[in-house]
Amino acid sequence: MKTINDISKINDQLADSAALAVDQQLLAAAEAEKCALIRTLLCLVGIESGSTDKAGIEEMNYQIEQELNDLGFSVTRHPSKGSSEGRVSLGDNIVGVLKGNGGKNIMLQAHQDTVYQRGTLEKSPFYIDGDFAYGPGIADDKGGIAVILHSLKLLKDRGFKDFGSITVLFNTDEEQSSVGSKELITSTAQLNDYILSFEPTIINPEGLISGTSGIGTATVTITGKAAHAGAEPEKGVNALVEAADLILRTADLDQGPNGVRFNWTMAEAGEVRNAIPAHASLLADIRFPTNEMFEAFKPELEARVANQKLVDAKIELVIDTTRPAFDVTEEGKQLMDKAVAIYKSIGHQLIIFPKTGGGSDAAFAALSGKPVIEALGLPGAGYHTSNAEYVNLEAIPRRLYLTSKLIMLLAQGE
Ligand SMILES: [Zn+2]
Repeated sequence: MKTINDISKINDQLADSAALAVDQQLLAAAEAEKCALIRTLLCLVGIESGSTDKAGIEEMNYQIEQELNDLGFSVTRHPSKGSSEGRVSLGDNIVGVLKGNGGKNIMLQAHQDTVYQRGTLEKSPFYIDGDFAYGPGIADDKGGIAVILHSLKLLKDRGFKDFGSITVLFNTDEEQSSVGSKELITSTAQLNDYILSFEPTIINPEGLISGTSGIGTATVTITGKAAHAGAEPEKGVNALVEAADLILRTADLDQGPNGVRFNWTMAEAGEVRNAIPAHASLLADIRFPTNEMFEAFKPELEARVANQKLVDAKIELVIDTTRPAFDVTEEGKQLMDKAVAIYKSIGHQLIIFPKTGGGSDAAFAALSGKPVIEALGLPGAGYHTSNAEYVNLEAIPRRLYLTSKLIMLLAQGE
């Protein structure tokens, strides 16, 4: 694994090869926009929008629609209905489109939902302490929405229209693995040349994410035949026995630290002590470094599962992708190099982080094959911890400069 110092050196080399002039007018405008962005944070954090909070998500939808209308966007709602493995999605996803004068098509994405239940805000209200602002969801991902809206404001104020179109996508179920919005993300990404994704970055060092591993599940349902366990057990088909054998005949499919990780994690069988169980179910957790490795793994698992012990048992296997793996492409690397160079031009450093375990919507956007850059939101910490989530306010001007300058360069094909 590369150390932060190694990565900094690489970043320095990249940035040196593409020295950029500073746009002083844009930088001054980004600095002047800081207070307005903080007011947006206050507003968005004040709306409790847990993924399953229909009223809160509706309030977010309304607020974002107003902001996008003010920026000249045409806004459509895309009802998000879906559920899988206990994850549910019920809010509307917002897509806004602004046509330009020609040039590249750019998509910006962030999520409206949080992991917090209603009532969290009362216990952990928004407050500012020095350079830091606190509040549930402030970094993940309301800061991302705020950076998008205010970067677009900077471009509007400047009269910048040298793009084919700018599309924004704000989904409402990222914290539910985007179960009801993933197709929308991939299909919208397909219509664009570049996708900028606005999850938060850590505070020090700020950086971009070069990849995330994928997450999947395998669900097995076994149907046997019930029979009295004492009187005539031989007339039954024991689903629990088949489940136990299935676990043993698949256990060595786990490929270790650099391969596909495969582990049975949940099981259920039987209803009463004195009956041969007619039903059993198993759930496995799967992690994969690349989508290709996952695809190669699936037939192996299917073959092992099909090799059943009790021929009269019925076995159903469903292999599902919760999140695809995301690996930055060559084009994506060039996108990251641009961002690094922009940051460097104003005296700041952006690290490119090695592949991490956590997932984001960048992975669904990347399925389009288009270049994706992730972690353009605000630098923050304490995500998913109700009383300690915060962002670094001092970074706001440079984050706005980064996004708006990146859009300008990409739009003009530079
Ligand atoms: Zn997030």
